[in-house]
Amino acid sequence: MTWEKAWQEGRTGWDAGGSPPILEELVRGGDLPTGRALVPGCGAGWDVFTLASEDREVVGLDVAPTAARRFADLRAERGIGADRAHILIEDFFAHTPAAPYDLVWDYTFLCAIDPSERPRWADKVDALVAPDGELVTLIFPAVEGDSPFGEGPPFPLLPQHLRDLLEPRWRPVRLEPVTHSHPGREGLEHIGRWRRR
Ligand code: SAH
Repeated sequence: MTWEKAWQEGRTGWDAGGSPPILEELVRGGDLPTGRALVPGCGAGWDVFTLASEDREVVGLDVAPTAARRFADLRAERGIGADRAHILIEDFFAHTPAAPYDLVWDYTFLCAIDPSERPRWADKVDALVAPDGELVTLIFPAVEGDSPFGEGPPFPLLPQHLRDLLEPRWRPVRLEPVTHSHPGREGLEHIGRWRRR
């Protein structure tokens, strides 16, 4: 399966039609870094729009041009300026911005790529986040043993996997189960907020 083909055929079962409740909560809480943020594998862009604000410019990345068209339509519907939220049709692993990001938000991206690529994801994230920036991961689907999602993607992703990938470079300032999730994802999500040691 290529991602673009899945988008073209409307096989986008991952698309919940909005951001996860915990992201809305974090944004309302007001203590996420402002400045420049990155959302890898952003799909239709729900989380890009949720994070975009007067003091936060958000870049979404996706390899699928069809996702980027959906993104553009949704952005227009919501009246969000292209200066605050934009999408690049680009491979995350090839993304080399002029300056690092203050915030990287990962949800349904790390679990979507092949698990053999996870160490490369960790190296790339390390290169993309500014020294005093923050990495925030919504860890999903946290299942041990047989996954309700079959062979994947999504591939099971546990808090311990993130620790193994990120420590000792990063330390969790918050790592715990979330209490509100989209239907069908309850009990399968943990929030991780990571800062450099
Ligand atoms: N975060 C979105 C989409 C999750 S599905 C949501 O929750 O709705 C994973 C997305 O990652 C797909 O849209 C796919 O096209 C994109 N993707 C897969 N590999 C990628 C890569 N190497 N670089 C950028 N995007 C990628």
